[in-house]
Parts: sequence; C-alpha cells; structure tokens
Amino acid sequence: MSYTTQMNAARKGIVTGAMETVAKKENMPIETLMERMAKGTIAVPVNKNHTVIDPEGVGEGLRTKVNVNLGISKDCCDLEVEMAKVRAAVAMKAEAIMDLSCFGKTREFRTRVISECPAMVGTVPMYDAVGFYDKNIKDITVDEFFKVVERHAEDGVDFATIHAGLNRATAEKIKRNDRLTGVVSRGGSLLYTWMMLNDAENPFYEHYDRLLEICTKYDLTLSLGDGCRPGSINDSTDAAQVEELITLGELTKRAWEQDVQVMIEGPGHMAMDEITGNMMMEKRLCHGAPFYVLGPLVTDVAPGYDHITSAIGGAIAAANGADFLCYVTPAEHLRLPDLEDMKEGVIATRIAAHAADIAKKIPGARSWDNAMSKARADLDWEKMFSLAMDPVKARSYRESSKPEFEDSCTMCGKMCAVRNMKRVHEGKDIQLND
Ligand code: SF4
Repeated sequence: MSYTTQMNAARKGIVTGAMETVAKKENMPIETLMERMAKGTIAVPVNKNHTVIDPEGVGEGLRTKVNVNLGISKDCCDLEVEMAKVRAAVAMKAEAIMDLSCFGKTREFRTRVISECPAMVGTVPMYDAVGFYDKNIKDITVDEFFKVVERHAEDGVDFATIHAGLNRATAEKIKRNDRLTGVVSRGGSLLYTWMMLNDAENPFYEHYDRLLEICTKYDLTLSLGDGCRPGSINDSTDAAQVEELITLGELTKRAWEQDVQVMIEGPGHMAMDEITGNMMMEKRLCHGAPFYVLGPLVTDVAPGYDHITSAIGGAIAAANGADFLCYVTPAEHLRLPDLEDMKEGVIATRIAAHAADIAKKIPGARSWDNAMSKARADLDWEKMFSLAMDPVKARSYRESSKPEFEDSCTMCGKMCAVRNMKRVHEGKDIQLND
C-alpha cells in the first residue's frame, strides 16, 4: 500500500521505517505512536528527499526535543564556520537544525546541511525569498513565494516555518493594540511589510491549499509560525498573539484534513506566571498539535545571559506541555552566535528539556539522574564525567583544582561529607585536624 505523508501512513495503518525508529528511540509501542500521529498530536518530520535523516518524533508523550538555529547572514557568511556549528550541534545531541540563512544565494549551504545532517532540518523560506529573487520585498509575487517554499521542500527540508496565521485580521489587532516591541518575528515582519505595501492578504493564508499541496508532495511538516510572538514580557498574551493562535488552530485542522503534519510555534518573551496558561491555551486552541517554543525568555534585562532566561522559561513550558524547544544563546539580541555561544545555548536548552522530561515522567528520564547520584555517592569521578550533560566541562573543572585526597574535591577537602559517610560506614576512623 502506498502513502503520501507519515500522517497518511499512520492513518492507513502502514508502519514506516521512520515510525519504527521513533518508537524504538522513545520506548513507545508503535501502535500508540501511530495512533497519536494519526490524530496529529505527534509529528515525525521526515522529508522524502532528506535521505540521511535519523528520524525523531515531536509531541505527546515523547522526549522534549531541542533545535539549534544557525545560517549565514550578510555580516557572517562563512559556510565552513556554519558547517562546523552543524556538526557540533549534532555531536551535542540537538535533534533539529534550523537553517535561518538570510543573505544572498542560500541554496548551497542548505543542500550541504541536508546532505550531511542526520538531525531534522528546518527553514524559514520567507527569509530566502528576498535573496533568491534579489528584489525588494514589495515586488515579490505570490507565485514567487510559493516557488521558494517548493524549492526548499524539493531540497529535503523536513519542516518549514510559515507565518500563515498573520492575516489581515491579525494585522488590524497589531495596529489597534500598542506593543512595546511591535512585531519581532523576522518572517512575520517581512510578511506584514509585504501585506501593508501591497494592500493584500497574506499569500500563505489566502492560498493555504497550495501550501498544503507542496507539503503533501514532499512530506514537508508545517511549522506554523507565530508572527505575533511577544518580543518583550510586556507584550505577551495580548490580542494579536491570541488572535493569531486562534487562526493557527483553524489552519491546523485544514492541514490535518490533507494528512499534512503540523507543529505550532510559540512565544517568545513571557513572565513566568503566564507560561502554564499559554501552554494550555495552545494545546486547546490547536487541538493538541505539538508545540514548538522559542524561550520563553522570562525577563528582558539580561542580555549576554539569555540562554539562562530562556532555559528557565523553556523548562516551565515543556513541563506544562511544550514538546520542542528552540535554543537561545548568550548572544541573543546582540550578534550572530559563534561556536562557543552555540554550545552554551545547546547545553542550557538540553538542561531545560531534560528537567521537563523528568516532570513529564518520560520513560528513562529520571534513571539518568539516579545513575549520576549513585556515581556521586560512590565518588566515582570517571562515571560522573561519562554521565554529565557536558563531560568536557565537568572534567576540566575537576582537573583545574586538584584536592589532597582523590575521594573528595577542593570544596570541602577532609570535611567531604560523602567521603566521611562512606568511611564511617566502612568502619574507618575520620581524622579532620591533622
Ligand atoms: S568535597 Fe564537598 S563538594 Fe566535593 S564531593 Fe565532597 S561533599 Fe561534595
């Protein structure tokens, strides 16, 4: 029996290789996985032309996934530097890479990433449209927008961010409701500009069925973008954000009717007390579709540390239903991240994702912590390094400050509680004063 998309296969009861891989990785019975894929609460973004992919699932009951953004810009356009970031991100266990290249002819980098990268690959075709046609945004035609999306799909992109929910009605809400930071989504602001300059409806909203045809042809997963994501904690949960989310819920149903897989993108910047309610609202309005959040950054005052403001919000979001976290680096709001920024961002986001997985009771999540605690109780340093989220950093800290006794560290020395408890239980004497 043939199928079009992974969702279509799940609905027909066809077990694909991608489903088998995801079920095995997640310790989930394949029947449960397929049932949730058929409903839409799990997406398995696997483009038919991404031949080296090691598939992952995103959604209900699965481990929280982590995405790394990278790509060339006008000021930083060295492909080799960005490819080094791709390899580092995969080595650090990021499950997705988003190529957000926004300068010049981006196809060379995109196709290199897709040909080498086993992680899911996502893009925002809107960014590419400007460079691809070398035209002013106003002059890009509706046909040209769709051709860029099709080009990305044909190249093997697994999921594409499309801001189809930022329609004229939402644009009116933006105008009528003051925000401190306006529209901060890059793709959302480009579409908003195009709509205003041409006095026209969002082409991806108006011709949504055309988008769905492309998605079906290549099994491109739609990541419905939040053009109105708040760019400051002042602007969160406002009329524009909620209006767009309602539209995204409607577009989700239309995509599912065509067996197109969907993820919903979310905020942004948001105070901690609003996060849980926002997660519930998204799941309700978008019928349980997987939720992919950037942050949320829980305060606006820590440039240079936004991997931390974001990890705090990401952990709360994921523990309350978000399925996929987009990393944020210390360079956020300041510059294009370098390799070190990227590593800091990946680790911070993986910590958030794992902490949430413990709270979500994902099978196997807590046993990792228990193994680390056992190694600590045994003062087994090699075991601790091997279990560490960042083994290189853990080892370098230990080696930078050597204790007098191997079975302690320079924090407490002879007063090491773990060492002394072990020794007492082994019937040994404790000498603290010599
Ligand atoms: S010396 Fe103190 S900090 Fe170091 S391992 Fe022992 S109890 Fe822990």
